[in-house]
Amino acid sequence: MSDAAPTTAQEPDEPVDPTDPQGDPALFDTVVNLCKRRGYVFPSAEIYGGFRSTYDYGPLGALMLRNVKNAWWRSMVQLRADIVGLDAAILSPPQVWEASGHLQNFTDPLVDCRNCQERFRLDKLDDPNVCPNCGAKESFTEARQFNLMFKTYAGPVEGSGTEVYLRPETAQGMFVNFKNVLETSRKKPPFGIAQVGKSFRNEITPGNFVFRTREFEQMEMEYFVPPDEAGKWYEYWCAERYRWYVDLGIPTHLLRLRAHDADELSHYSSGTSDVEFLFPWGWDELEGIANRTDYDLRQHAAHSGERLEYFDQAAGERYVPHVIEPAAGATRTAMAFLMAAYEEEEVAREGQGQGEARTVLRFHPRIAPYKVAVLPLSKKPELSGPAGEVLAQLQPHYMCDYDETQAIGRRYRRQDELGTPFCVTIDFDTLNDNAVTVRDRDTMAQDRVPIAGLLEHLRPRLEI
Ligand code: ATP
Repeated sequence: MSDAAPTTAQEPDEPVDPTDPQGDPALFDTVVNLCKRRGYVFPSAEIYGGFRSTYDYGPLGALMLRNVKNAWWRSMVQLRADIVGLDAAILSPPQVWEASGHLQNFTDPLVDCRNCQERFRLDKLDDPNVCPNCGAKESFTEARQFNLMFKTYAGPVEGSGTEVYLRPETAQGMFVNFKNVLETSRKKPPFGIAQVGKSFRNEITPGNFVFRTREFEQMEMEYFVPPDEAGKWYEYWCAERYRWYVDLGIPTHLLRLRAHDADELSHYSSGTSDVEFLFPWGWDELEGIANRTDYDLRQHAAHSGERLEYFDQAAGERYVPHVIEPAAGATRTAMAFLMAAYEEEEVAREGQGQGEARTVLRFHPRIAPYKVAVLPLSKKPELSGPAGEVLAQLQPHYMCDYDETQAIGRRYRRQDELGTPFCVTIDFDTLNDNAVTVRDRDTMAQDRVPIAGLLEHLRPRLEI
């Protein structure tokens, strides 16, 4: 555990500012514009005018989102002997959602403004008596419970018996496969099942860019434990999950753990804490860590008729494990990484004394879309030959960009704005000394490194 890890759900590593600081509202537009301009995120179906609150991840965004999911999988599955992975179906029959309680409970309170006809989620309004769109007072209808599940039909005939749902969370895939995994994986409590994938919610008010969308990606893990150990593991996972964000470079002043009040708890939860990030509009959720008790396994056992229990041979005891669930959003977290990494600064122009502004995305190397940019100083064939060789040496190991147009200073600036940790420049000296210049994104320091030792130079700096 790093020093930064909090010891309990309520105690982050440093006291949260009691004045509850606001984020920087100007940062929102700046980062959204950068995402479009540099190919991180595009509005979906843009050539048709866009499709509300739906986004496509461009060349850079696709890489970065994949890196977020890989970093999660690495820490939650690869580096652990007690957690296994799963990739369950997105389409699922009504029985699953009947048992989980989603058909009945997965609702948000919806109100309409009688004055401007806009719709809102009642629990997200700052003032439930004033319409944030038109300012009318006491203009809302009675709240109606609106179910967020997307329903569709399987097969050519629409009608009862053919309804299926797009999953609104990945978690139920783990519960319905509990028995399969237990029987095939040789794991025993405490053990976990982890999954990354798309989820769908018919949100009443999607918005804030990719923060809340109707189609999004989740990274969830269900950790099955003996009932009397649930409290201990809940504390453990709150600390671990907070630490994950810190280890990947999110500054602690932008992060906090917040325990839910009793009236915020979901129907299945006996305790929940959120990891929150200071977004431009204020603190908001990145991940929820919930103590789900034995609710889900008992519900699925009752509805399916299967025994969803663990038999502890040593103790001669049969029990239904309790579950601790860290549930994070991959797309929402990618947005937080972008916001946290963004920086504008005044720097001396490289090679000259003058100051100039630069924009840099200070991503952790694991999150950065490209790890290395290979930049021959000129397009001349004498340089593109060796530059191609350097690229071929690095590509099997790292995602690389290759760029041979424009002045080198402008190419460095472009890579800074993409968040690329290292640029490797091939110049005319390379033809004599078989060495290249490695430039560091954060310090802008330049090292001369022999091509033969380039991988060894980069590895400890990128694989941290
Ligand atoms: P909220 O209160 O914001 O609606 P939630 O508490 O219902 O979220 P969970 O069901 O705990 O969310 O889902 C786990 C994680 O999945 C959230 O912390 C978030 O990161 C992500 N997530 C949930 N809904 C969305 C959405 N509509 N768009 C993007 N990410 C989402």
